[in-house]
Amino acid sequence: MGLLDRIKPQEKKLRPVDLGVDGQGGLTVRWEDGRQTVFAPKWLRARCPCAGCVEEWTGKRTVGEAQVPEDVKCRGLHQVGNYAVQLDWSDSHTTGIFSWDYLLELRGELDKK
Ligand SMILES: [Zn+2]
Repeated sequence: MGLLDRIKPQEKKLRPVDLGVDGQGGLTVRWEDGRQTVFAPKWLRARCPCAGCVEEWTGKRTVGEAQVPEDVKCRGLHQVGNYAVQLDWSDSHTTGIFSWDYLLELRGELDKK
């Protein structure tokens, strides 16, 4: 461990080491700390951070649980650089890019439940 690691231990954010789509169309993420998170498809789709789901200027969510089909599924994923993943949904929505930071935040939300 280097000097910087000891000064700022909480600066280092966890990263996914593996990503996949499970049989229910949810997103599975395996993290550097060895934990695995399964994001249920509808729950995750309703938290899409793109400009089509959240108004850019006001930050108001326009597509959430009420607008998302009950049986929505994730159909594919594409890694974006080394910081995010773009998800293809069964409701033809493909513009959502989920950064590692955002997924980590959502993992924290699931942990609270
Ligand atoms: Zn979206």
